[in-house]
Amino acid sequence: MQKFSLSHLFRPEILSLNAYKVADASGFIKLDAMENPYQWSEEINHQWLLSLQDCSLNRYPDPSAGELNARLKQVNQIPDEFSILLGNGSDEIIQMLLMGLAEKSHVLSVEPSFVMYKQISLSLGLNYHSVPLQTEDFAIDLNAMLQAIQALQPAIIFLAYPNNPTANLFSTDALKQILRASSGLVVIDEAYAPFANASFLNELAHYENLLVMRTLSKLGLAGLRLGFIAGHSEIIEQLDKIRLPYNINILTQKSALFALSQLNLFTEQAQLICTQRGWLLEQLNHLNGIIAYPSAANFILFRTPVGQADKIFAGLKQQGILIKNLSPQAGLLQDCLRVTVGKPEENQAFLSALIQSLNEMPHFFKA
Ligand code: PMP
Repeated sequence: MQKFSLSHLFRPEILSLNAYKVADASGFIKLDAMENPYQWSEEINHQWLLSLQDCSLNRYPDPSAGELNARLKQVNQIPDEFSILLGNGSDEIIQMLLMGLAEKSHVLSVEPSFVMYKQISLSLGLNYHSVPLQTEDFAIDLNAMLQAIQALQPAIIFLAYPNNPTANLFSTDALKQILRASSGLVVIDEAYAPFANASFLNELAHYENLLVMRTLSKLGLAGLRLGFIAGHSEIIEQLDKIRLPYNINILTQKSALFALSQLNLFTEQAQLICTQRGWLLEQLNHLNGIIAYPSAANFILFRTPVGQADKIFAGLKQQGILIKNLSPQAGLLQDCLRVTVGKPEENQAFLSALIQSLNEMPHFFKA
């Protein structure tokens, strides 16, 4: 009998992957994960709990989440001729998309972008490629992208719009050229749509290979785990075969329906966040040694003095502020940190802590 050995059981690509790590945020002002910082009022909380009263936890949920599906289509004004597929967060939708592809398919995105495109591709043994964004403003290098499409014929292209972690919107013209040049699926990932005032949902009718993905996480429902993808029904039909039955649990279905009845609340919060984003960006750009990049999302990417990102990140942590250190990812993100826009008092606390950390650096970085 052969000896028990993990390396015989798991595929080499799994053995060589690192798990996606999430920092322990307990006790910190949490500005690391692009969450909405606002909690519901007692009154809204009460109404939400009432809406859960008739949940039968002993029964399986509606397998197709029909009511929620219809409501999401209506709220997002998705015309009847298109379909949507729901996922346990948009992470799960990325996984479903990739699971369905032919063996050894090529997957294309840009670098830097959302890490799960690569992580899930690699875990499934797919060939992942990325085209570097432009150094100065993180725009798409359209020529390089079109060349990669020509050479690789990717089965799928992921483009986050706005992009995470750079927070910018890519040129719509570049995205349309990519859609036209590609014979594979093109996923426009609109996770940050509530803060962006831009969308490709209206383009679904013009491109048969376009899919538009959204999540409720950034709007203010990260704990629910609900995302959806919209596209031509023939594509969604294929994806629906991969979806596990009951992937959207009953508490998520009911809670999301309740939340969608309170859309004004979320719109107001998104507006507050956008106003704070403007304030924070301006404050950051006043600091000596800091370059903060424009943002169409609920977070800001900023560059710190060369070689100081780890120290500044640690200094902020010491002062009780958790943000995201992107510098270890190197490349264009060398020396970069990312902060989620929080409540005014949280943003102020972050800024004060950052100034304190900069003041502790050699004199030429003084804030
Ligand atoms: N897409 C992008 C661009 C993201 O940044 C994230 C989360 N950070 C997701 C998708 C996944 O979001 P969720 O699984 O919470 O829907």
